[in-house]
Amino acid sequence: MTGEWPDLDTVRSWDASDPLRDRRARFALPQGMIYLDGNSLGALPRATADRIADTVTRQWGRDLISSWNKNGWIDAPARLGARIAPLIGAAADEVIVADSTSVNLFKLLAAACAARPDRGTILTEPGNFPTDLYVANGVAQMMPDRRVRTMAAEEIAAAIDADTAVVLLTHVHYKTGAMLDMAAITAAAHRAGALILWDLSHSAGAVDVDLNGCGVDLAIGCGYKYLNGGPGAPAFLFVARSVQETLSSPLSGWMGHAAPFDFGDDYAPAPGIRRFLCGTPPILAMSALDAGLDTFGETGMAQLVAKSRALGDLLIAGIEARCVRHGFSLVTPRDPAARGSHVSIAHPHAWEICQALIARGVVGDFRAPDVLRLGLTPLYTSFEDVWQAVELLAAVMEEGAWRDPAFAARAAVT
Ligand SMILES: *Cc1c(COP(=O)(O)O)cnc(C)c1O
Repeated sequence: MTGEWPDLDTVRSWDASDPLRDRRARFALPQGMIYLDGNSLGALPRATADRIADTVTRQWGRDLISSWNKNGWIDAPARLGARIAPLIGAAADEVIVADSTSVNLFKLLAAACAARPDRGTILTEPGNFPTDLYVANGVAQMMPDRRVRTMAAEEIAAAIDADTAVVLLTHVHYKTGAMLDMAAITAAAHRAGALILWDLSHSAGAVDVDLNGCGVDLAIGCGYKYLNGGPGAPAFLFVARSVQETLSSPLSGWMGHAAPFDFGDDYAPAPGIRRFLCGTPPILAMSALDAGLDTFGETGMAQLVAKSRALGDLLIAGIEARCVRHGFSLVTPRDPAARGSHVSIAHPHAWEICQALIARGVVGDFRAPDVLRLGLTPLYTSFEDVWQAVELLAAVMEEGAWRDPAFAARAAVT
């Protein structure tokens, strides 16, 4: 791909020779819809409904409480964590599935601050995903003499100093799609004696992540985006083996206890990653996440990353060839090494345009104030999807279809 806008036959030939072409059949994508929002809510895997039904009727209904042992419910957090580990360059015993992304962020951020008692600053970037900023501020307010400092991503490495307890960054920015240099920023944090915490919500399952290769301490991420775990799926957290024993969870619930079924009065954290559990795992939701992870099969991340980049190259070429003339500007970096798996474009009427596009069967989303996001999920997005989406967007602009007043009304969830 060199930025040319190919014809439909060419694009179809790419789909025909795509090594991941059989993956799409694992998803129940609605007919006639081009779904470019898997970065916000991953599509439904075909196997999920039966998997949940089995967990409900056979495991819960028939085996009842024996399922905790017999059906392995008690090990689900560690088992699913071990399945996510190879997608993010981690070892199996460094990842565990629990709680929500926001809650895991709280646990790891508070643990990191406690592990650096002489340092007062949580360093992050302005415009980070709101929950990251809100939780960081909440942690700072709870602990004495702590503050949140924000610094533009390009300046963050230079801003890490002897007062920085932990650097909190989102690897792929939810709005711009820009991807930060994990290796370089992690190294800068460590040179200054700070811990690093990466939010992988828009990374896991779509872009190249090598947590151990980069020497990362801590990470968190979502189960319902590229991991296809279903709405509100349990999230994951990563703690490098090297720091596991030096950190403890501020939510010291019994599931993170060394011996939960001793029912002792005093808390003693479990060795290893299990100490970051809090309460009883949500088994129905865990079974949906397990089915979501099955969609990866034996596919290595290298193939997914290559396809994600090729899809992004095609989409950017289409935007430049067919859409820029209608007043769009490209928000996402053009360099595949500097972007994640969604492409964002800005337009003063992005909201209405997004609604008009959805009415034509192309589902992307809007991020205030003026960004249209188009997500590319390498497991099920085809090159033809991208091609058709660009042509439909160009048609919406050429026809002025977005000017219909019906598209101006705002919904609660964008
Ligand atoms: C989606 C997303 C979250 C979501 O957090 P929840 O607790 O699942 O609501 C957090 N951080 C980032 C960067 C995200 O993109």
